[in-house]
Amino acid sequence: MSEPAATMPPWIAPATASLAAARRSGRLPHALLIHEAPGAGGDWLAHWAARLALCERFAEAPCGECRPCRRALAWQHPDLTLVTPLEDSRQIRIEQLRDLAAELALTSHAGGYKVGVLTPADSMNRFAANALLKTLEEPPARTLLVLVASQPSRLPPTVLSRCQRLAVRAPTRAEAIAWLTEVRGTGAWDAALETVGEAPMLLVQADPEPLAQIGAEARQTLDAVAAGRADPLATAERWARSELPVRLRCFENWLTERIRRGQGAGDLMPEVRAGPNLPGAGAFLNIRELFGLLDEVRELRTALDVPLNRALALEALLRRLAPRGAGVAA
Ligand SMILES: [Zn+2]
Repeated sequence: MSEPAATMPPWIAPATASLAAARRSGRLPHALLIHEAPGAGGDWLAHWAARLALCERFAEAPCGECRPCRRALAWQHPDLTLVTPLEDSRQIRIEQLRDLAAELALTSHAGGYKVGVLTPADSMNRFAANALLKTLEEPPARTLLVLVASQPSRLPPTVLSRCQRLAVRAPTRAEAIAWLTEVRGTGAWDAALETVGEAPMLLVQADPEPLAQIGAEARQTLDAVAAGRADPLATAERWARSELPVRLRCFENWLTERIRRGQGAGDLMPEVRAGPNLPGAGAFLNIRELFGLLDEVRELRTALDVPLNRALALEALLRRLAPRGAGVAA
């Protein structure tokens, strides 16, 4: 078993190669926006880019052995600043951007680059984004700002236009399993990925077995709700009591799978019917309704740490899944 930070996910290799080429030719950008598929390794790449800028023995990649590399690897390099939402907040706030700007304005401790990593950058509120814009407009020399976002469209165009973009695609299932096996050893990775989607970074520190079980159970329940065999209210109350974020992720994956199947069928009538194992189930949601529901499930998952009645919100979403007009015994 090896250290996750040291083991390059192969699907990220094209991005690291282009950054290494930029550094070799002295064209490392001032600002980089990493657009990642959720859980595909945007943070990993941001950390790598920081080490690339800070390494003092750079040849093809950060050497991993010099003192700056070792300190950066532990996020303890004095010229490396990590900006994430504060513990009790979902947002990156303006004060944090002001602190970052002040830090970047100082002379580098090591005489080289100063690096700021913002993740998830799409959690910056409007004020924070405006404060960042000032730094982006007049970046101090030898500064590297790395923004990681899975929804860059949430950032103002003025910020986006000043960043060089780099994409991190979702790995294939086989790539994700191979990488997790390399860094964590053998485990129920396939089943755990079935639960969280192609997002191996979410599993780097997780126990795959319970996740796999929760996922299997959640999919069965969703099939049952869609067929009118399970009650949305009882399901919502049960889900709200434990592991809700994981179950909502399953809900997203389950909807995505339905959408994919509906589109892949080559049928221009975008009406997806409940599976053949669900006799008597009424017409299921059409593609547009599925997309709408998917957005709202995602919205609920990202809003979980604000005060809201989770069970009530979830019940409303599950009800839209249930066959219309079908009475369900609680
Ligand atoms: Zn190094």
